[in-house]
Amino acid sequence: MYSSSDGRNSSQLLEEGGHPLDFQDKELQCSDCGVTFTFNAEEQEFFQSKGYTNEPKRCPACRETRKAERYGDSGYRSRRQMFPAVCAQCGKDTEVPFEPREGRPVYCSECYSKQRLGR
Ligand SMILES: [Zn+2]
Ligand SMILES: [Zn+2]
Repeated sequence: MYSSSDGRNSSQLLEEGGHPLDFQDKELQCSDCGVTFTFNAEEQEFFQSKGYTNEPKRCPACRETRKAERYGDSGYRSRRQMFPAVCAQCGKDTEVPFEPREGRPVYCSECYSKQRLGR
């Protein structure tokens, strides 16, 4: 008679992987196209790890679309729209990452860093 172990160690597995997952798949409605999409447990965990408290408002497809619109099709995430401006300090042509307002001085990067160092 030979006793064979049946190779089941499920109880051990449960003990080892025993951190509770309290995230559950959620059905959300896209605010752009109205489609119902799943905000799954994995994404919820990811959101929480990032410190986001809001649920996504848009379905993945619309999120992609918006991203593409915002950054153009080149896919450079760090690329921001730049506005032409004239430095209030040295009069040089420059570009700033925000829209220059009337009455607010705009500095080129050189003068800007000098200003910051000056204080
Ligand atoms: Zn959508
Ligand atoms: Zn300048």
